[in-house]
Amino acid sequence: MKAVRVSRAGGPEVLHYEEVPDPQPGADEVLVKTEAIGLNYIDTYHRTGLYPLDLPFIPGLEAAGTVKTVGADTEVLQVGDRVAYSGVPASYAEYVAAPEAQLVKLPEGVDTQTGAAAMLQGMTAHYLAHGTYPLKRGDTALIHAAAGGVGLLLVQMAKACGARVFGTVSTDEKARLARDAGADEIIRYTEQDFEAEVKRLTHGRGVHVVYDSVARTTFEKSLNCLRPRGLLVLFGQSSGPVPPFDPGVLNARGSLYLTRPTLKDYTATRDELLQRAGDVLEWVQSGQLKLRIDRTLPLPAAAEAHRLLEGRQTKGKVLLIP
Ligand code: NDP
Repeated sequence: MKAVRVSRAGGPEVLHYEEVPDPQPGADEVLVKTEAIGLNYIDTYHRTGLYPLDLPFIPGLEAAGTVKTVGADTEVLQVGDRVAYSGVPASYAEYVAAPEAQLVKLPEGVDTQTGAAAMLQGMTAHYLAHGTYPLKRGDTALIHAAAGGVGLLLVQMAKACGARVFGTVSTDEKARLARDAGADEIIRYTEQDFEAEVKRLTHGRGVHVVYDSVARTTFEKSLNCLRPRGLLVLFGQSSGPVPPFDPGVLNARGSLYLTRPTLKDYTATRDELLQRAGDVLEWVQSGQLKLRIDRTLPLPAAAEAHRLLEGRQTKGKVLLIP
């Protein structure tokens, strides 16, 4: 089969579209013919070696497609079922051998591209808004990169919980999208001091929670945006990792909380995975949650997709099509 493979860590140029051996599913696995692959920021961390993987590897953690064969010990899925997944490695490929326990059947009315776009970023927004800090009416939340893949979904979910939402973005076009998603206030953090803006908008009180996926360039000021006993949810590092940090800062700035969560721990059991994926797919199906597919690119153009994502050129989800 054809796949994108990385043989050495580096820039987007190390993503090579080439012939690779077909995957061989185990007894508890199914063979999925990939129809749409979700691009995620973590794919760039794997490519650069920030999160090292054994070389060579096929990147990607998310896709949707059709079941082609089922292993002897599988219980639920059948050949022909349409499925989606996140957290299964090597998705930048025409076929993937995936554990049945990681797969979710797509409901009628949710097409395969939508399924591929919804899983990883949708379940992330779900656990951030409903698990890590369960938002409620009256809460104020600051969401960085509010027009990104996770950002646009998290803004919508935070508003559905009744929170007042401040979103940071870098351009006018992203400001419009974040506002359309429901953000109450938009801060252009590349031009404005977002800490000063948050203080002004909250009459000096600060927010209950900051969802920060940008990290290096935002971390310090994100802490300063919190009210006493507020929570900083550091869930990514699009601008680079945070340097070593003295926990005494949390005391000095008002008994603050800091957490560094990851989706894997919030979909740790099959029940939790089905509950989060089920909510997200149902909300998408009913129109309650709007997915924005920014663009689709052919799988051989994976390097171009990585350049766009790292260059802050994307607004919502990018899909790769084999
Ligand atoms: P996004 O679509 O949000 O893309 C990243 C965005 O970050 C950019 O569009 C840009 O928005 C902003 N950004 C700010 N500074 C930089 C910079 N220096 N370089 C690049 N981008 C920058 O990506 P995803 O939705 O895929 O992921 C968002 C973040 O969430 C990532 O950090 C990812 O690792 C993390 N994540 C974490 C998960 C978890 O469970 N912990 C799961 C899923 C994602 P703007 O131009 O508006 O500044």
